[in-house]
Amino acid sequence: MSKKNKKTETRFLTDRMLGTLTRYLRFMGYDTLSATTLQSGNKSEDTVLLGIASASGRMLLTRDKELAVRGGNLARHFSSDDVLFQVRQLIEEGLISDDVEVRMQRCSLCNSILRLATREEIKSTEYAPQNRMEVSFYWCPQCRRLYWMGSHGRNLTKRLRDYLLM
Ligand SMILES: [Zn+2]
Repeated sequence: MSKKNKKTETRFLTDRMLGTLTRYLRFMGYDTLSATTLQSGNKSEDTVLLGIASASGRMLLTRDKELAVRGGNLARHFSSDDVLFQVRQLIEEGLISDDVEVRMQRCSLCNSILRLATREEIKSTEYAPQNRMEVSFYWCPQCRRLYWMGSHGRNLTKRLRDYLLM
């Protein structure tokens, strides 16, 4: 069942084990903060993560069962390492829409909101596809990285949908 009139979207906080899921959620447009942006080696990182989740109203996603138990309503535990399984679990729990789609709204590396790229930004990017002016290009002002909805985005959408329909 697809909820078209969407309520406020859940925002997420992911632990260090969930790098692939973090990128997938950002590709789908979900505001997802990652523990990898914190300084590493902090022995009480779990406590820091719980603090961020509760202060910012983010759902903490983790592979660490103990941490999830500590987080209570603010946390979800994944028993599987498989990113598709993790996406399905989020859908089943109603945390993300079952209408999965790569939306090209957020940078998959840093979570910043993308904006339309300028002509100059496209021209100055070596990896931009040539002769594809009908394509919409997006820009991460933070990473200075160019995005576009090419075959990668379409393949990811298809992969997710194929899996979820199984
Ligand atoms: Zn970025």
